[in-house]
Amino acid sequence: MKVLLADEFGFCFGVERAVDMVEDSLEKNETVRSLGPLIHNNEEMNRLGEHGVTTIDTPVQIKRGETAVIRAHGVTPEVQEELEEKASKVVDATCPFVTRVQRLASRAAEKDRHVIVVGNPDHPEMIGVRGYAPENAFIINDAAEVAGLPRLNNPLVVSQTTIKLKTFLETAEAVKAKTDDEVEIVNTICSATRDRQDAARALAGEVDAFYVIGGEHSSNSRKLVAVCKETCEKSFLIQTEEEINADDLVGVENVGVTAGASTPKWLIDKVVARLEEIGKSNEIALN
Ligand code: SF4
Repeated sequence: MKVLLADEFGFCFGVERAVDMVEDSLEKNETVRSLGPLIHNNEEMNRLGEHGVTTIDTPVQIKRGETAVIRAHGVTPEVQEELEEKASKVVDATCPFVTRVQRLASRAAEKDRHVIVVGNPDHPEMIGVRGYAPENAFIINDAAEVAGLPRLNNPLVVSQTTIKLKTFLETAEAVKAKTDDEVEIVNTICSATRDRQDAARALAGEVDAFYVIGGEHSSNSRKLVAVCKETCEKSFLIQTEEEINADDLVGVENVGVTAGASTPKWLIDKVVARLEEIGKSNEIALN
């Protein structure tokens, strides 16, 4: 049985960068506290927890002597200031793609322009971005919500980094009806999610079974399973190698592997090793 990895899988650039920054702090023996879970993967959170990383819900919980971590989603300027006041050190792991959205919103607001951000207003990334243009930003899910907007002044339309391109383009188009000014449209969607889906789709047609490694609650991992199932019926979402059922692999010649954007490399290696082990024992059984 051959184990084939998708061309793109696992940690996206922003998550990898955040974990690296936290590890740097751990190496310096700092007491590291992340505002919100650093990553949506229980195994990686447990590993970081064993090294002393803890999670806090609000900046109030941070104390002098501690290092506060801003995760890849970013925070509002107020929250950042509060962390800087309270902590001995702040590690800002805001993904540069998110920083770009924050900056665009902030600059447009300084010129008294309206900012339309297409995204989920309850998502931490969007809560952070709103803080950069509190009086001028409207965060809306899709084109259907444009009707509820007031008349707009020189609007800028940007997006949450992980939304669908179709939703963004449709919403940006609908915004034109709400202004007499020109609408500036800047696509700020990050390609990490789409690249992983395209790579999984390409591999799914070549394998008899597919394993997606990711958290049960990780929406990008669940979406990867749906993409794989389009062409490979035997596609499974697993969190660890222990969830692989060897019976599912009887008669399988090629097995595909991919992982959600929050799945660490060490966990992927364990799954690949387990699959190779099952492949060998199935071969022995056949001979
Ligand atoms: S998905 Fe994209 S924007 Fe979000 S953290 Fe990863 S690289 Fe950054």
